[in-house]
Amino acid sequence: MLVERMRPFTSTIFTEISRLAVETGAINLGQGFPDTDGPASLLADAAANITERGVNQYPPGPGMPSLRRAVADHQRRFYGLEVDPADVVVTTGATEAIASALLGLCEPGDEVVTFEPAYDSYAASVALAGATLKPVPLHPPRFGFDDDELAAAFSDRTKVVLVNTPHNPTGTVFTRAQLVRIGELAVAHDAVIVTDEVYEHMTFDDAEHVPMATLPGLAGRTLTISSAGKTFSVTGWKVGWIHGPPELVAAPRAVKQFLTFHGGAPLQPAVANALALGDDFYFSITTDLTRKRDLLSAGLRAAGFDVLTPRGTYFVVADPRPLGFDDGVDLAGKLPGLCGVAAVPVSVFCSSAAGVAATRPLVRFAFCKRDEVLTEAAERLAGLRG
Ligand code: PMP
Ligand code: GLN
Repeated sequence: MLVERMRPFTSTIFTEISRLAVETGAINLGQGFPDTDGPASLLADAAANITERGVNQYPPGPGMPSLRRAVADHQRRFYGLEVDPADVVVTTGATEAIASALLGLCEPGDEVVTFEPAYDSYAASVALAGATLKPVPLHPPRFGFDDDELAAAFSDRTKVVLVNTPHNPTGTVFTRAQLVRIGELAVAHDAVIVTDEVYEHMTFDDAEHVPMATLPGLAGRTLTISSAGKTFSVTGWKVGWIHGPPELVAAPRAVKQFLTFHGGAPLQPAVANALALGDDFYFSITTDLTRKRDLLSAGLRAAGFDVLTPRGTYFVVADPRPLGFDDGVDLAGKLPGLCGVAAVPVSVFCSSAAGVAATRPLVRFAFCKRDEVLTEAAERLAGLRG
């Protein structure tokens, strides 16, 4: 009975691999979620909102004023962006922000340019909107794009270019020059830029997160998305947001009213307070994750994988061909049984045959776990060498 356009999307890789991990008792480095909760002040604040302050009824449709103000303050503090809190819409996670933006902006037949591999909700949301996905390959091992391939993906039907930086699943952080080029093409084709920046505080080494909306001339055509789930390690809370110029943000605001109306009332003011945490908190995200990335990467290398070192996010892509595996889907299915660690294949994040072929051997591991869990995972992976 399911409508045709949703038939390719009946299950997600995260559901499948997490179920496999539970069944086998494997360490789950597949689905990306931390195994420690966010800042204690955030958790206590949310609990008090429920039990002491009675913040338990519907929040206003566009979100609690305190959170919309806090998002605007955060954008000024970190990026120098001037955002009117009236132009911020709080959503049920970044997932609803992405879906409501695409549903609100795309007519059936419009085209959405995005990079692949891509976070799995992109293709599904484009399909829900009845639009057509135009994937641009990111080429391993560095996951850059080819300028001709990018330019060729744009047409007079392009309505949206959907950008994700830092990028899941590859760990790429687009450079300023790459983002400027994407922006030029968006301007040339009069496309809206929808930019998913949920990993904005997770960059390593010399990588710098550049929000699309900060680039000259782009703020007026850009919708920026982020979420508390990643920054504050509360992926189950599903508190996200989207902001942009009034005429653009009106689109997701209208749609989301009829997807969820709204949720997360007691969580929203707690997230508002957490967004104002001091620089030491934000600094610790990077230092902790850099250590974890290096810990897991060393374990993967010692186990025989080639590691495609990420510059952002909490994912690392590994190439198992030196170990004799050339099919990531097959390996991800076997890995829990072989060594008690779960990972996800990268090719399932691709919708074009070329993308699937280019990423076929690769698997993605999440390193947002306690150090001792990563150490244990590394020891288990070492068993793969036999
Ligand atoms: N975009 C990307 C790139 C992600 O990795 C995630 C995390 N699953 C999301 C969006 C969804 O975020 P949320 O959990 O806030 O809906
Ligand atoms: N963002 C997480 C990941 O990419 C999990 C997403 C999900 O479970 N839908 O692993």
